[in-house]
Amino acid sequence: MRVAVLSRNPNLYSTRRLKEAGEERGHQVDIIDTLHCYMDITQSRPAVRYLGEELPYYDAVIPRIGASITFYGAAVVRQFEMMGTFTVNESVAISRSRDKLRSLQLLSRKGVGLPRTGFANRPDNIKDLIKNVGGAPLVIKLLEGTQGIGVVLADTNKNAESIIEAFMGLKANILVQEFIKEAGGADIRCFVVGGKVVAAMKRQGAEGEFRSNLHRGGSATLVKLSKEERATAVNAAKVMGLNVCGVDILQSNNGPVVMEVNSSPGLEGIETATNKDVAALIYSFIEKQAKPNNTRTKGKG
Ligand code: ADP
Repeated sequence: MRVAVLSRNPNLYSTRRLKEAGEERGHQVDIIDTLHCYMDITQSRPAVRYLGEELPYYDAVIPRIGASITFYGAAVVRQFEMMGTFTVNESVAISRSRDKLRSLQLLSRKGVGLPRTGFANRPDNIKDLIKNVGGAPLVIKLLEGTQGIGVVLADTNKNAESIIEAFMGLKANILVQEFIKEAGGADIRCFVVGGKVVAAMKRQGAEGEFRSNLHRGGSATLVKLSKEERATAVNAAKVMGLNVCGVDILQSNNGPVVMEVNSSPGLEGIETATNKDVAALIYSFIEKQAKPNNTRTKGKG
């Protein structure tokens, strides 16, 4: 098969592994810089141009769209969908997953376990917002944050109030969330491919840190999932409509709760912690699914 990996950086671990694993399985894999793709959307025969030429037909596209280029990246993926190319994650699902509020609303509607969460733009009554999610300790999150930046723990209601006021003063969109203390500064990353959890790791924050992000000095180890955790991850992926994703779960006293679903999950942490060839598992999914026009929305979403 001819496969395109849409990625801004060919040197990233995940991009390199996706090229390597595909070639090992006999595919031709091109790395295409998403932001350098351009197109004439009015042509009756949809195509994508790149470096002055029309791209050849690809049997499958693996989108690795960074959060900062979601808007343009989704348009490029949509163009491939219109050409009938199979895309590992569809453009609508990628856009959906990048909107944290929309994602949480969708997951909640479908009964997926979540930490109690509130959001507000300009609450006239911050005290009530805090009370409504159960009071301190609370986690306050910047909607636009990644890698744990902009995630703050407030121990008391008073602290929570001043942090919320400070963020609001900066006109930032925030989430206010119940603090799952019993998770003990750890979370579980479930890597889902084609409706199955193919690998899972437990990430533990550094000593004295409630955030488990590997970028913040957390460490990762292999973990065996309970039936309930596995089902939660699979369900969350299904609700989001993502074939390949990372589902982050906290172990709460009320069972597993989903924190986030990531449509471009990194391969380095998970392959190192679990010793699994996750890139090859993605190809095995593509090999089964990549038939022309097998993308559900065909760019219409
Ligand atoms: P980011 O998307 O920036 O990584 P997250 O929402 O994943 O932000 O939060 C970063 C880390 O903080 C998580 O990996 C988790 O360890 C911890 N954390 C986040 N929300 C909660 C919560 N409600 N209760 C307990 N720990 C949390």
